[in-house]
Amino acid sequence: MKISEHFNREEFTCSCGCEFNTVDAELLRVLEQVRTHYDQPVTINSACRCLEHNRAIGSTDTSQHVNGKAADIKIKSVSSIGIYHYLNNLYPDCFGIGIYDSFLHIDVRDDKGRWDNRT
Ligand SMILES: [Zn+2]
Ligand SMILES: [Zn+2]
Repeated sequence: MKISEHFNREEFTCSCGCEFNTVDAELLRVLEQVRTHYDQPVTINSACRCLEHNRAIGSTDTSQHVNGKAADIKIKSVSSIGIYHYLNNLYPDCFGIGIYDSFLHIDVRDDKGRWDNRT
């Protein structure tokens, strides 16, 4: 089911089979911004996660993924650091943005968080 111009609800669904897929509207707006800026498909590696699945993959209970407020994304022809700089310039004082080797984490938390988990 389409929930915005370029995204389907299925792309956000928890991968454990529980069907949790309630996406935060602000997150969806930011993802559409990225999609429009680069004019490239945005692949969502992981978005909504129920607490059980989030624990199973070793994440913390405070992860924004549990609230449907986070997405791990990838754009084929753009580096994670490139997307990081784009978002950090747009939203210098808020949201959570984390760089990983193969994806970029973005969440719409109330305060600000930045991290670099590249190996
Ligand atoms: Zn689940
Ligand atoms: Zn994440």
